[in-house]
Amino acid sequence: MITLRRAVDVRACCDDARRTGNTVALVPTMGFFHDGHRSLMRAARADTDLVVVSVFVNPTQFGPDEDLDGYPRDPDGDTAVAAAEGVDIVFMPPVDELYPDEPRTTVHVAGLTERLCGVSRPTHFDGVATVVTKLFSIVGPCRAYFGRKDAQQLAVIRRVVDDLNLPVDVIGCPLVREPDGLARSSRNAYLAPDERAAATVLWRALSTVADATRAGERDAATLEALAASTIRAEPGVRLDYAELVDAHTIEPTARVDGELILAVAAFVGQTRLIDNLTITAIGTEVDIDLGVVAEEQTA
Ligand code: AMP
Repeated sequence: MITLRRAVDVRACCDDARRTGNTVALVPTMGFFHDGHRSLMRAARADTDLVVVSVFVNPTQFGPDEDLDGYPRDPDGDTAVAAAEGVDIVFMPPVDELYPDEPRTTVHVAGLTERLCGVSRPTHFDGVATVVTKLFSIVGPCRAYFGRKDAQQLAVIRRVVDDLNLPVDVIGCPLVREPDGLARSSRNAYLAPDERAAATVLWRALSTVADATRAGERDAATLEALAASTIRAEPGVRLDYAELVDAHTIEPTARVDGELILAVAAFVGQTRLIDNLTITAIGTEVDIDLGVVAEEQTA
């Protein structure tokens, strides 16, 4: 495994790989690896000849009052994890490698970036879409791996790829959870012990929705209210949103029909956490995907 900091070097390695008939995978991350990141690396490793993982805490996806400076970082630990997962190249660019000047070109996806997290983080998805497009240009991946933990991000990236005809297959990977249900996140490191306990309310809210859906509930407002009231009942937790939306367009829906996500966001103390479940309803068949438990990943 090699660690590279310059885009030109990454491009040269990936060009060589493709020239000799190899496939290239990209796993874009902000580092501070956990089992969610590892699961993406494993999927990429299983499918592809050359696996590139980028580690870049992208300043343009943070709002002015957000946690850019305090975001957890562990480049040495990340390098060790990537090596253990059989990654070929870790791309760790300094900020001025990707943004040598104030960028004048950005990628904006209208509509689906304005809902859910886009309401409280209005510039976030422009930053994500732009940096992922830049990484695609540098690496030229055949496949790129994203977690369903960030379901709205996945929808945005799929839309960028479709709208711009980018030659990359976007692979959505299962949401990885702690044994007690909390979705794995680098931001979980911010949680004090009492907050860590309270944070499981997101999982409890989603489980309540899953149970109600399995019992036959199909009304979106009822399911959203169930999730919201569960989260509001937890002391020290402030609900941002609980919404049932189309998994691809992020448009609201009145009934459980098609491929949907029930997405939640809440502040646990100062830490904003997100989570979701996927509901696929075709006719009378309903499938609910709550993700997988981390122990299954590390076993
Ligand atoms: P991040 O480093 O948080 O920007 O995440 C990098 C990639 O890892 C994104 O595609 C995330 O969706 C994915 N990811 C983060 N947490 C999880 C998780 N708990 N399960 C699955 N994928 C995840």
